[in-house]
Amino acid sequence: MRVDALTLEGWRNYQRQQLTFDDGCNVIYGENAQGKTNLLEAIVYLSCGKSPRAHGDRELIGFDRQDALLVGQIFSRQREFVTDIRLSRSKRRSMTVNGVKAKNGAALSDVLHTVFFAPEDLFLIRAGAAERRRFMDMSLCQLRPRYAEALAEYGRLYEHKTRILRDSDEYPQLLDTLPDFDRRLCQVGAVLISYRARYVQALAVHAQRAHWECSGEREELALSYQTVKTVEDPLGPAADIAAALAEHQAQHHQAELASRLCLSGPHKDDIAVAVNGLEARHFCSQGQVRTAALSLKLADREIHKTAIGEYPVMLLDDVLSELDDARQTYLLTRIEDKQTFVTTCDSAAFARTNGKLVFVDHGTVREG
Ligand code: ATP
Ligand code: MG
Repeated sequence: MRVDALTLEGWRNYQRQQLTFDDGCNVIYGENAQGKTNLLEAIVYLSCGKSPRAHGDRELIGFDRQDALLVGQIFSRQREFVTDIRLSRSKRRSMTVNGVKAKNGAALSDVLHTVFFAPEDLFLIRAGAAERRRFMDMSLCQLRPRYAEALAEYGRLYEHKTRILRDSDEYPQLLDTLPDFDRRLCQVGAVLISYRARYVQALAVHAQRAHWECSGEREELALSYQTVKTVEDPLGPAADIAAALAEHQAQHHQAELASRLCLSGPHKDDIAVAVNGLEARHFCSQGQVRTAALSLKLADREIHKTAIGEYPVMLLDDVLSELDDARQTYLLTRIEDKQTFVTTCDSAAFARTNGKLVFVDHGTVREG
């Protein structure tokens, strides 16, 4: 899939702008605060009806404007689509695809998928397990509706169990309901673990390859799925996983009552990330962290391709800084056969690509 053209009116610092794009690499360059990320944000919005960084739609409308218009010409599933989005300070937003009303973000995702890399994604490697769980959950929720349902149910059960444990001092009879919640948490938890184990298995293969090539065949990236200790085979039958979860729960029952916290279950899962055998969180250099985070995103793109039959559009915001020449060249040349957008402040980056150059200056664009 690809975005062929974009019209922005009153979008952030863009007054009125029409743009066309290459089906390979598009390098968006310009000084700080000119509108490069705003442009990528518009493309993400076209794919899901949400901005990855704004809290609400109003932030997206130009300061001096009442409305914003975003129109994308998209080619996907062998067809042309026009996605039209209108945001207003006074009215509800309206979204159409080929003139037909789009009810929600999911209707936009039917047409366009994007994988967005932002500088904050370095936390994927540096921060605690929660970031990596969020990454895996977001990707799986997009791809597998059943996973999204299971995750939502797990969240509800977890909240409920936490409340029971918390209030059990005051209302000891609450504990009578705990076995039911525990049983259901094991069943739903087993579904999550099954999906996650398969996802990380596929992710590991693609990410390893991307990192290996990007680093000039010098670094081995290894990912492994970490879940509840008693689960010996997370790829095995769900019933076995549920039994293993129940065993772990039983072992921690007393501790849960004492701490009044939910201590057992896949809400503590993680993906262990190592580069050349060393734990990435603690031992990777800046460039290695960036390469590893990027490899996870590139791997996610491959998994999307397998699931939906087409490559999603890749958006890389400010990914080039901190990468040495060889790694930048890999990025700008090896992934250009699928549509990619890369922002940069460094004008040298274009010498390395055959793609299109887009120069952004105070919310106006010059195409190279
Ligand atoms: P950097 O290289 O520093 O990341 P950038 O080119 O990616 O810069 P953007 O994040 O796209 O810059 O933002 C460009 C400018 O857009 C900012 O200076 C900001 O003040 C302005 N801006 C943000 N929201 C709005 C809005 N709703 N209306 C008008 N301008 C806005
Ligand atoms: Mg930016």
